[in-house]
Amino acid sequence: MTADLEALRKALDGLDDRLIETLAERQQMIDEVAKHKSEQPVNLHDGLREREILSRLAQKGRTGGLDGFFVMSVFREIFDYSIRRQQNRLSGNGDDESKAPSLVVGHLGIQGSNSQLAAAKYFGTSQAGVVYQGCGSFGDLVEGVNNGSLDRAVIPLENTTAGSINASYDLLARSDLSLVGEEVLRIDHCLLAVTHAPVAGIRRVYSHPEALNQCSEFLRTLTHCRVESVADTATAARVVAKQRHASCAAIASPEAAHIYDLCIIRRGLANQRENYTRFGVIARQALTFDLRIPCKTSLMFATGHEKGALLSCLNILSNYGLNLTKLESRPRPNVPWEYLFYVDFEGNLAEDHVVAALQALTSKTSYMKVLGSYPQRTARSGERAEMIDAVALRVDPAAGAMAGVAKACPAVPKSLDKKSYRLVTREQRPEDSTVRVGNVTVGGDRPVVIAGPCSVESREQVIACARVVRECGGDLLRGGCFKPRTSPYSFQGLGYEGLELLAEAGRQFDLPIVTEVLHPSDLHAIAEKADMIQIGARNMQNFPLLREVGKVDRPVFLKRGMMATVDEWLAAAEYILAHGNQQVVLCERGIRTFETSTRFTLDLSAIPVVRERTHLPILVDPSHACGKRRWVSPLAESAIAAGAHGIMVEIHPEPDKALCDGPQSLDFEDFAGMMSRLRHAHQATTVANAR
Ligand code: PEP
Ligand code: MN
Repeated sequence: MTADLEALRKALDGLDDRLIETLAERQQMIDEVAKHKSEQPVNLHDGLREREILSRLAQKGRTGGLDGFFVMSVFREIFDYSIRRQQNRLSGNGDDESKAPSLVVGHLGIQGSNSQLAAAKYFGTSQAGVVYQGCGSFGDLVEGVNNGSLDRAVIPLENTTAGSINASYDLLARSDLSLVGEEVLRIDHCLLAVTHAPVAGIRRVYSHPEALNQCSEFLRTLTHCRVESVADTATAARVVAKQRHASCAAIASPEAAHIYDLCIIRRGLANQRENYTRFGVIARQALTFDLRIPCKTSLMFATGHEKGALLSCLNILSNYGLNLTKLESRPRPNVPWEYLFYVDFEGNLAEDHVVAALQALTSKTSYMKVLGSYPQRTARSGERAEMIDAVALRVDPAAGAMAGVAKACPAVPKSLDKKSYRLVTREQRPEDSTVRVGNVTVGGDRPVVIAGPCSVESREQVIACARVVRECGGDLLRGGCFKPRTSPYSFQGLGYEGLELLAEAGRQFDLPIVTEVLHPSDLHAIAEKADMIQIGARNMQNFPLLREVGKVDRPVFLKRGMMATVDEWLAAAEYILAHGNQQVVLCERGIRTFETSTRFTLDLSAIPVVRERTHLPILVDPSHACGKRRWVSPLAESAIAAGAHGIMVEIHPEPDKALCDGPQSLDFEDFAGMMSRLRHAHQATTVANAR
């Protein structure tokens, strides 16, 4: 090397050092600016000012002999970095991150995978130390966040070439995790090999199936070349680096080339030149972000069964001025031909109008889950019209993302301001709501009958009950598996074994099944198998259980507590609705009075009262109310006459041998008789109404 070249290189190194020092100095100044901003209600990002500065810099660059576009893209990166730093300072990237000594962040694949690059980009400005942990599957990531071994996980949500990543959306539907961030990564698919070999000599290409898919047009141009899928793009690079074969190549990022010491032999392989992937950051709990940070909110919902239901949901968002950035549908788990809609819109759950919109939306949906609000990365909407007052917000650890919706909310009519329930009232929804359980509609014109044994005792017993329910025209099969017994020495139910038997009987006779859940920890496993979840009288005010049931997409059968007023009962239902699940059916099952002739006193007067106050369907359980078989049928008939949407009764092949509630269980003959009387009564009413 000549002395001149040596000197030039030294000078260049010095120049690079000065660039870094200047950038660091710039960042210090930005931090000062951020301190000022944190005391004032101003937007962090001023799009107009940024555009002016960029064009000034481009101009200046051009006069210095630089490409204007190059100057703009360098400064865009610099601005982007400082905006993120300011956002992080303002709300600690969502409160807890600024305080946490370190965050463990899970991602798919090994170092250099696109998920890891997205994670590094997102957490690069975090003030907490970050430890990255590669995982093999989506399931491992969710499990890690759930069990606390990961604080965050980064999952790909959609790609601008290939579309939505269904596995991620399905996972969000099933899990109870929140979205707390998004990141967008420009994906530069490159062909990497051990030497600068010509592309024509490549005989084997490794990559992630998604990447192979996105580069299908390039791959078609290769002849005699085998394509192999591996776990992630960085693994593909590692495989090629290990094999050290000139004819092997990987499709991966330029960063992977650097990490695994490979040559980039072709860039920009994707079918579309602009190829971006959007990632979501998930956490156990929702985070709250300062109102000055432009945020997006994500939610998912299922619509009710009315015509134009989706349209009316979208209209609500539009009426509240919320700009939709994504709408996606996925099959609703366990409900054929129904869909869960995923919606992203610009807005923050900490804003009143967002809470109001969601509150209004709740009553149009049958199920809604708010995934969370997070700083927006897909479009930097510094142009947001209004200036918003800064509010320092804290996470409410006791509640999920739906908590804001359950709080005081301007969408509520004034008259409901002081009521302990709002969503369940007729004021919120004047027309009757119906609840679909499997293929049965509860709350329509035809009264429904739920029947089955108090507890599932054996396969023979539950199959016999299911057969008679089906033959006599009953609608749903109910059986207790987890029993709330007053005495710890009584039969407590067969648990999951009973649930399997109940599910088998339901399948055999095509009857949706209902069973009681006693504890939140069993809820998800039971909801996987049961078509409807019962909350028993003793748990009517088990608020943690109500909250959890409110978060799952399963109809709920909510029994009235034996000491509960109608208002307390409706407030209990409100818990479920306020957490997103609108599919609640009430059940009057008798209350404690001074009267001892019957087990409880069936409060038939509650039926018209409840129907006046709420749009939710109401059923009546005469079995537990009266406690004696011979009084069940007359009370069931009276309940229907008083306006109940159906009844629930206990039956048993041999009531005298029942392990639980035998004296009130109908034998099959009594059940058949009651069913026939109910049918006749219903026919008579229908004819009378038609006249
Ligand atoms: C039951 O339905 O089996 C039951 C225990 O009822 P309740 O919760 O109304 O007492
Ligand atoms: Mn019972």
